[in-house]
Amino acid sequence: MVVTVPEVKERPEVGIIGGSGLYDPGIFEEVTEVKVYTPWGLPSDNIIIGTVRGKRVAFLPRHGRGHRVPPHRVNYRANIWALHQLGVKRIVAVSAVGSLREDYKPGDFVLPDQFIDMTKRRDYTFYEGPVVAHVQIGLEPFCPELRKIVLETARALGITIHERGTYICIEGPRFSTLAESRIWKEVFKCDIIGMTLVPEINLARELGMCYVSICMVTDYDIWAERIVTAEEVVRVMKENVEKAKKLLYEVIPKIPRERHCKCEEVLRYAFL
Ligand SMILES: [Zn+2]
Repeated sequence: MVVTVPEVKERPEVGIIGGSGLYDPGIFEEVTEVKVYTPWGLPSDNIIIGTVRGKRVAFLPRHGRGHRVPPHRVNYRANIWALHQLGVKRIVAVSAVGSLREDYKPGDFVLPDQFIDMTKRRDYTFYEGPVVAHVQIGLEPFCPELRKIVLETARALGITIHERGTYICIEGPRFSTLAESRIWKEVFKCDIIGMTLVPEINLARELGMCYVSICMVTDYDIWAERIVTAEEVVRVMKENVEKAKKLLYEVIPKIPRERHCKCEEVLRYAFL
């Protein structure tokens, strides 16, 4: 049965946004499916609310179940707004990425700490006027408290995870050319590449939500000039998704209700 927001009795504190391959966390009990209407339209799918080790958690597959929405067509504003409307204060986003460096190998996880935005035509803000906001995101775009929890938990589970990385977000849906890929790697000094971080991360910040991104390396981007077969990519993705589920299962109970970060504070200085 699908319910609407007012019918949700226990509000989720944590929201998980699932990326390619992660359409069902498979770790939820007492599941409710919610259809959320937002001023920005409908999110990528109904939101699943369930319990993970005593904590109510919302789950949204970024591309919809069955991967129906390409990265440049995701309604990021509706997705973030919907999670916020349900009461979510902290978002753990999971994404598949390409690697721009030799030592970030397929199968490794990366916790980016910075990003560069090379997207072209998306809806980047909730503040389209007359209210104008310039939100600080520069120093710590990703929630430091959530990053620490994910990092320590992944290490305890024996998952290879890199503590830092600059994520370059491209428009897609095509992959980079060789020339572009080498610019991202050698000139911009980026570490990983994907198509979905922006504007998800800055929209979350505009609503004072915490955001962390667990990036799962699927392949080396084209700079390496390696031919990757679809089979290899699918195999690595499947393994990554299984690891991500285990990681989420351990991370969720460790996320405290009370926040010890400044992700919400920035809103105080955002308005003109
Ligand atoms: Zn935070």
